[in-house]
Amino acid sequence: MSATGMITTTDVTPGVSIPLIGLGTWPMTGDAATEAVFRAIDSGYRHIDTAENYANEAAVGEGIRRSGIDRRQLFLTTKFNTAWHSRAGVRDAFGQAVNRLGTDYLDLFLVHWPNPAQGRFVEACEGLQDLVSDGSIRAWGVSNFKPDHLQAVQDAGLRVPVNQVQVDPGHSQPAQLAYQREHGILTAAYSPLGRNGSFLTHPAVTGPAEDFGRTPAQIVLRWHVQNGRVAVPKSADPQRQRDNLDVFGFDLSQAQLDAIDALETGAPPRLDSATYFH
Ligand code: NAP
Repeated sequence: MSATGMITTTDVTPGVSIPLIGLGTWPMTGDAATEAVFRAIDSGYRHIDTAENYANEAAVGEGIRRSGIDRRQLFLTTKFNTAWHSRAGVRDAFGQAVNRLGTDYLDLFLVHWPNPAQGRFVEACEGLQDLVSDGSIRAWGVSNFKPDHLQAVQDAGLRVPVNQVQVDPGHSQPAQLAYQREHGILTAAYSPLGRNGSFLTHPAVTGPAEDFGRTPAQIVLRWHVQNGRVAVPKSADPQRQRDNLDVFGFDLSQAQLDAIDALETGAPPRLDSATYFH
């Protein structure tokens, strides 16, 4: 194994380090979300991904409190809906999010969807930059932004630190990810296991799983992190949670990475951010 096989974090912005694996919390709510977050932190997770729209921020906050972890040891991401897309609105969204979560700052706050018809996502990003400037949040980013949306933000003079998009071996969005690489935008993969996708039984995944004595999901998550991506797999199951975090003790070969890349289907993401939003 190379030294890089043990790297578990990357930088969102200089000095703001994000764990490469985080716990996804959608669609868990209530006690199920609290229990999953508590167990995940107990198993070593230090990065939790939630959103206003998941209606679970209070339950996630309760799981964090129940774990007893020092808040500063945890990387907490949430996202806000498009109703808040103005500089003042983003500040209100922040106030309500930290209130629900029971914290006083966020590590990462994301514009959940661009809603280009509304046309105010650049203002939302400016509002996020204000929150970084006054120390309310450590970093900001976006989610579900296509290259033209990212370009509009950059044309306004902002550097986008991270975009959280749907990526799995069958939906590896090559053009989107190439744009993000070219512009120094960190990719965070949501639905990184394709919601238990059929590729988990493909020989390109099961072969390395047998070679390394790992599960297929671990191979796919290793493929994400070896490509420099953050991934936020969701699991409510304590053993699968532990497996999904334990992807740092081995290296896939270039041939193995290429074979997983070849599972790309060309299918677009499930939801089209040109029109879908909340
Ligand atoms: P996912 O993480 O790819 O898949 C979750 C599904 O896979 C669950 O049914 C889970 O079941 C199962 N699973 C988890 N670990 C497994 C393993 N080791 N082996 C086999 N099956 C496993 O999909 P997702 O929930 O859509 O995405 C993850 C997170 O991304 C969400 O929770 C959310 O935080 C975020 N997300 C963001 C957006 C956005 O617009 N930004 C959109 C969608 C999702 P069990 O729970 O039973 O293990």
